[in-house]
Formats: sequence, C-alpha cells, structure tokens
Amino acid sequence: MKPQNVGLCTTCQAPLMPHTACKNCGTYKGKQVIDTTRDMKREVKKAASADDHDHDHGHDHAEEATESKEEKAS
Ligand SMILES: [Zn+2]
Repeated sequence: MKPQNVGLCTTCQAPLMPHTACKNCGTYKGKQVIDTTRDMKREVKKAASADDHDHDHGHDHAEEATESKEEKAS
C-alpha cells in the first residue's frame, strides 16, 4: 500500500486514483461529478426497506432508524 499514490474519497473514504472521480459514490474532491445518487438511493431502499417507502422525506437517517425499529417490532 502506498498512500501517496492513492487518494481517499473525501465522501465515502474509498481509495481511488488521484484526479479520478470516485466510482463508489460518484464524487471528486467532495463534488458530485457522477450521477450515482439514484443508484445509491435504490441500494439504500433495497437494503433498508422491506416495505414500500417510495416517498422520500429527505431525511434518510431518520427513515433508516424508523425502519429498523419497525423491522424489530414486526
Ligand atoms: Zn466516494
């Protein structure tokens, strides 16, 4: 491992080549350069939501917490 040759994504901390957009989250130096938000949201939904929560309220963390509780409750 040579950290000098590999940068870290400032958003998701994934290793990435310098001067290259992060393929993991689609950002470059903290700026969104690749539209991966839809895919990421889809992944989050798929992972976190068993029931259909198609309406996003804008606070994903709160929803995740709520859904975790719901899963435990049911
Ligand atoms: Zn990233």
